[in-house]
Amino acid sequence: MVRFVLVPIYLLVALKVPKWFIKAIDKIRRSFLWKGRKEVNGGCCLVAWEKIMGPLELGGLGIHNLEVMGWAQQMRWLWIEKTKPDRQWAGLEIPVHSNTSAMFAISVVTNVGNGENTLFWSECLSKSWAPGKCKTFIWLAIRNRCWTADRLQKRGLPYSDHCPLCDQEEEMVQHILTTCVFARQFWFAVLQPLNLVALVPSRRTVSLANWWLRAWRKLPEQHKKGFNSLVMLGAWIIWKHHNACVFDVLAPRLQVALQAYKDELQLWIAAGAKGLRALRVRQID
Ligand SMILES: [Zn+2]
Repeated sequence: MVRFVLVPIYLLVALKVPKWFIKAIDKIRRSFLWKGRKEVNGGCCLVAWEKIMGPLELGGLGIHNLEVMGWAQQMRWLWIEKTKPDRQWAGLEIPVHSNTSAMFAISVVTNVGNGENTLFWSECLSKSWAPGKCKTFIWLAIRNRCWTADRLQKRGLPYSDHCPLCDQEEEMVQHILTTCVFARQFWFAVLQPLNLVALVPSRRTVSLANWWLRAWRKLPEQHKKGFNSLVMLGAWIIWKHHNACVFDVLAPRLQVALQAYKDELQLWIAAGAKGLRALRVRQID
């Protein structure tokens, strides 16, 4: 009975429920478990609630942790959005917890499939202009294979707890390149002169690949390749700035990153990035 709380599950799928709600439900579940009634005092609880919420095979009672279960349930929306892009609500901001987005980003690998997605990846990695090292970096970043704290930790290597660019969130590559406040300011500064502010990633963006594909779909055909080069260039600059902050212990500075972007942009255009030149010259309406 305590394990299968049906009413909150519906809510957890549909809403980002506040912590007080989870606490209130847990209070009732705890009381019911120990005394079979609605209220109970702390002395009646013989085992810590955290332990009770562990799985049966690890000595818990398999009672769901509602907060974690809510994050897992909400992944369903991200999955539907990814696999059924024709849904009416596709393209709108989905109200899911940032942990849900992060979990989804590391759990899902996008393979080249059919139709538009194939077109996107082939245009992006084979037809759009970028130096080979940047394409390799992007390919790794999309697959979460860059050396950020989450991967270093898994391998038992030394790592820093927080993103060095904002010092607020965990250091994960999808965060660094898209949802970090530093990255969002960077993309805003890069996209605003092109009248593309609507494409700036938000705090709830799921991953670099997801944001990129959605933005790419909204662009007119003639600017798609240029936009791909721009994303690869921008992500590359943010990553290099991140590395300078980690390894050379520099403080993050948006103006420094933007200047590096402008310098590199000139080099890419001079080296043959026609799409980037077109994007810059025409300034999309
Ligand atoms: Zn950050």
